Amino acid sequence: MEYESKSIQCPNCGAPLSDVGKNVCDHCGSTVIVRRVREAGALSPLQLSKYASFYRGKTDGASQFALGCCQMQLKQFTFAAGTFRKLLAEVPDNAMAYYYLALAVLAGKRPFVQPRPVIDEAESCLESAAAIEPHALFFYLRAFIRNDYFERKRYRVQPDSAYFLSLAEECGGISDDERDELFELMNCDPPAGF
Ligand SMILES: [Zn+2]
Repeated sequence: MEYESKSIQCPNCGAPLSDVGKNVCDHCGSTVIVRRVREAGALSPLQLSKYASFYRGKTDGASQFALGCCQMQLKQFTFAAGTFRKLLAEVPDNAMAYYYLALAVLAGKRPFVQPRPVIDEAESCLESAAAIEPHALFFYLRAFIRNDYFERKRYRVQPDSAYFLSLAEECGGISDDERDELFELMNCDPPAGF
């Protein structure tokens, strides 16, 4: 993803950036473009609101993605879903936007407590993400949905969670950081085997 190349400022202190590629402000040391929800988690609530309005004034894909991440961290899941949908209408091959959209649709809750249409929508987002780029994270979340919504309720489902977990392994597995971010966003703990 590209930034709007001219006149990039720090969302925190407003200083102009000397090196766009660096992504850290020389003046205050803050992150410039948030690229993961976890990065937004390092910001204070005040900073988060400031960052969100900064990104809202920009139209490039990286800023829209960053806005969605801030909204996720602020638990504004409906707004975050809208931001990721808008981004995907313009940049349909952004697999991570589909992944975060799946989590925005789950709205901070685990699959177990969701109605079926929410589960179907989240799974369809993850299918789109995996079709663009087979990343372990997409299969891992799919496995958790299969486990938590279907298998815990003894619903018959194929392919099952073990299948999606094996796909995640084949893609190199996920990092501890990715796992922590994922379960924080669903406000639950990973079950045994995850
Ligand atoms: Zn700064």
